[in-house]
Amino acid sequence: MDLIQLLIIGLLALSIVVAGTIFLARRRALPPAAKRSLPAEPTAPAEDRPTTQPADSDEKSPASSGPSTPTLDRPEAPASRMARLRRRLAGSNNPLARGLLSILSADRLDADTWDDFEATLITSDLGVGPTQELTAALRRELSIDGVGDSVKAKQVLRRELLSLVNPNLDRSLKLRGASGLPAVVLVVGVNGTGKTTTIGKLARVMVAENQSVVLGAADTFRAAAADQLQTWGDRVGVPTVRGPEAGDPAAVAYQAVQRGIDDGADVVVVDTAGRLHTKTGLMDELGKIKRVIEKLAPVTEVLLLIDATTGQNGLIQARVFAEVVQITGIVLSKLDGSAKGGIVVQVQRELGVPVKLIGLGEGVDDLVPFEAEAFVDALLSE
Ligand code: GDP
Repeated sequence: MDLIQLLIIGLLALSIVVAGTIFLARRRALPPAAKRSLPAEPTAPAEDRPTTQPADSDEKSPASSGPSTPTLDRPEAPASRMARLRRRLAGSNNPLARGLLSILSADRLDADTWDDFEATLITSDLGVGPTQELTAALRRELSIDGVGDSVKAKQVLRRELLSLVNPNLDRSLKLRGASGLPAVVLVVGVNGTGKTTTIGKLARVMVAENQSVVLGAADTFRAAAADQLQTWGDRVGVPTVRGPEAGDPAAVAYQAVQRGIDDGADVVVVDTAGRLHTKTGLMDELGKIKRVIEKLAPVTEVLLLIDATTGQNGLIQARVFAEVVQITGIVLSKLDGSAKGGIVVQVQRELGVPVKLIGLGEGVDDLVPFEAEAFVDALLSE
């Protein structure tokens, strides 16, 4: 083969390589065949899309992840909530806890020590009766061995405290409706105690447990209250039934329960206005709401909100509510802001109704089922 033949073969090979490269580059520039041949994905009409965008959200935006895959909030696991309870109630942060633990580190258990102990418990809203009972029991039990054996003394304190808080009360929420009907939870309490916030937090927990929920905004006196409730509902993809501003609260409650029945929902939670104008006014309003709801389905749970930071005032309000409607459970909110956890004991005694839930902050997961043992252990943890 001479030089010219070699040159021709080389040129041929080069032009094949160049042509191949151009062809491949063109192919890459085109969209894939499958994409070209299919029509565009149909877009759901706006009203069919789940509304997951909270109106005032400065947190992560569920709707921003796209309409076809809404990211609904999921609540925090119960174990880490209990850890928070412990942190918030633990000895050094809480005067009641400090008062209780002070007895264990006392040099001598003389009359002055017991007087100081009693005074601290009374100012922590434990109530006079429970304070005297606890002091008498501890004086009796610790009079022989004293507090020299601190482990044993703490066990005695724990046992006596626990019996005051009463671990035997049924604290379960009644969330099972009668024969195919939704359960109906009515939430009552003075404005500002945390009703709406609590309902929102509760809805999160129920949704996480795969329960279908409808919210009823029967606090029609403040438009902001219905907006607030709807925001909570939207966050977890739960519908909120609301009526015209200043409309009849009983009518909204009725419509909410009707919606719950129509949707085959598990639970309907109804928010109410908490205006303590007159006892008769309150009685008329709450009585009517309950009566009207019960034309459709029995009310399975009436939760009374009490703001733990209001102490004796909260108790006075609680008495009024307990006279006008039969309370089945207490939610003690703002226990994080109160140095007076003793109210748990006093309110249960006064009303004869168990504390079922406690609020430990404004955060979405700051609602915890009340458990006597966990509460006492949190108080006694150092
Ligand atoms: P409502 O008028 O009874 O519906 O009360 P809201 O639900 O509007 O709550 C009143 C205020 O109390 C709001 O600012 C809530 O964030 C706050 N709040 C509710 N529960 C708690 C709680 O457990 N701890 C604290 N620190 N704040 C709470």
